Amino acid sequence: MTVAIYPGSFDPITNGHLDIATRAAKLFDKLVIGIYDTPNKPILFNTEERVELVKKSVINLPNIEVEAFSGLVVDFARKIGAQTMVRGLRMSADFDREFDMAMMNKKLNPDLELVCLMANLQYQFLSSSLLKEAASLGGNINNLVPEPVAIALSKKVQNKM
Ligand code: ADP
Repeated sequence: MTVAIYPGSFDPITNGHLDIATRAAKLFDKLVIGIYDTPNKPILFNTEERVELVKKSVINLPNIEVEAFSGLVVDFARKIGAQTMVRGLRMSADFDREFDMAMMNKKLNPDLELVCLMANLQYQFLSSSLLKEAASLGGNINNLVPEPVAIALSKKVQNKM
């Protein structure tokens, strides 16, 4: 059975993430979306909220599981029996960082293969951080995120995030 891990902060999950997950789910028997418990950046949604929002967003994709993890992604991949890691690549934003991380991960676990899927054109400029900024300033972000995320974001905005 082919198992892949799609790790990230997902703070919150966007339609760009969902597009990558949907496409990756067609390539593997099982895709585990791994939610970093403690990302190296300020977060808006706690781990439980991020897991919940991803679960609600992939409810129609039966071969996707969602799990929080802490520590090294390569260790989590080993634990769940994933042979492959999936990441999304936007045109300008991601390559250098992904390349560095890929080299480090290869050192840490040479058996874990990396598959990068190119972000679709309409999501090239979509990031969780810009999304949160736009939402906090009252922008309409409804067509950029799954519905449960739009609802959760508007609640955060009402509570002044
Ligand atoms: P991380 O903190 O690991 O960068 P993110 O949640 O920001 O976590 O992103 C997780 C993965 O999804 C990364 O591979 C990132 O490049 C990818 N990604 C982020 N936004 C998009 C998007 N709009 N389209 C496609 N892939 C994306």
